[in-house]
Amino acid sequence: MFCNQCEQTQNGTGCVDLGVCGKDPDMQSLQETLLYGVKGMAAYANHARRLGKVDEQVSEFIEEALFATMTNVNFDLESLLEMVLKCGEMNLRVMQLLDEGHSERFGTPTPTTVYEGTKAGPGILVTGHDMLDLSDLLEQSAGKGVNIYTHGEMLPAHSYPKLKAHPHLAGHFGTAWQNQHLEFTQFTGPVIATTNCVLIPWETYRDRLHTTRVTAVPGGKRIKSNDFSAVIQQALECEPLVDDKQRESTIGFHHSVILGIADKVIDAIKSGAVKHVYLIGGCDGAEMGRNYFTKCAQQAPESSLILTLGCGKYRIRDGNYGTVAGLPRFLDMGQCNDAYGAIKVATALAGAFGCGVNDLPLTLVISWFEQKAVAVLLTLLHLGIKGIRIGPAAPGFITPNVFRILQEKFDLKLIEPEPPVELFQLAVV
Ligand code: SF4
Ligand code: SF4
Repeated sequence: MFCNQCEQTQNGTGCVDLGVCGKDPDMQSLQETLLYGVKGMAAYANHARRLGKVDEQVSEFIEEALFATMTNVNFDLESLLEMVLKCGEMNLRVMQLLDEGHSERFGTPTPTTVYEGTKAGPGILVTGHDMLDLSDLLEQSAGKGVNIYTHGEMLPAHSYPKLKAHPHLAGHFGTAWQNQHLEFTQFTGPVIATTNCVLIPWETYRDRLHTTRVTAVPGGKRIKSNDFSAVIQQALECEPLVDDKQRESTIGFHHSVILGIADKVIDAIKSGAVKHVYLIGGCDGAEMGRNYFTKCAQQAPESSLILTLGCGKYRIRDGNYGTVAGLPRFLDMGQCNDAYGAIKVATALAGAFGCGVNDLPLTLVISWFEQKAVAVLLTLLHLGIKGIRIGPAAPGFITPNVFRILQEKFDLKLIEPEPPVELFQLAVV
């Protein structure tokens, strides 16, 4: 453990084995889990607030949770675990607010074919998660001869009717956050980073990188208002992009789309045509161990559906998955916060089959990286979902003892070096 938050900290530098106050590593672990879950939830809540969606209960919980991590407030593992799961419950509400905020503002997503690559002419690339920034930029750049492209977690923007109605929302360029250095160097126009998952820029594109509000990087230009005129002007002055179509893809399998064909999905499961559903997604990252998620998707039997979300999709979306029972096997549900949609689908299927979510032929394989993923994981645990596989590594802030508690309570598993055979046998029983 490491804690240096109060004056009595050991040697004036930090308590490492045991707190001077008596806090032990497991208490610290649960306090950090709570803190990191709250951070992720606060980011989602901030996105939702910008869309006019707030819930006083959420704000109250954030205060309580932070309070519980102060010095000499809570040394009780059971009540800390209770708060950790409550964080998951509150995050479910926040993801719901965000889902509603997106749909109310931009329309309900529909399956959409997206042009990937660049088109000849000036362009601006938008990364992060904030659809409102993209919407403002699209409005301000209309008719100015500048194409707008999405990057990373902005890909789902193309499935929202009011965003895709802009003809100069020209396509998608690039992959997940960890590839920004190379991809932003290649993209000749300005880049706008709207939220978390922005890297400190290389010299190669530093003067073209703009950030919004809380997001800021050395050398980048921070936009505090929603005035993108300087970015649009820079796009017109930068070297234009070239025509370079790399592929087309289909996205936009929002929960409303999947629930709209629920009868077909249920019939396919009942008839045995679809034997299993995998949710493979979450955050991407640079570690080699993340190839596990690619292998899972590749090895998933042809009788299975694969739901995905978050930037973890970039590990698996290049496969040619085809169809099963007339349904596309690979269903991109959107951003990491669209885990809310996956939960809605799973709950609806459980209702249709008269069973619990844990009784469905459903396996969750979640890649985590940062605190939004922690909040989502806590939501899944709050719902009592068992047998989730997470990776590539165990969170460093979770002690072996706390992990054991989570394993006992939720059958939480760490991913193995290779996907085990039994992960796919589920689909053929
Ligand atoms: S709160 Fe406890 S563990 Fe943290 S620095 Fe103070 S004495 Fe040490
Ligand atoms: S899914 Fe996670 S790692 Fe990926 S961009 Fe979103 S918050 Fe960042």
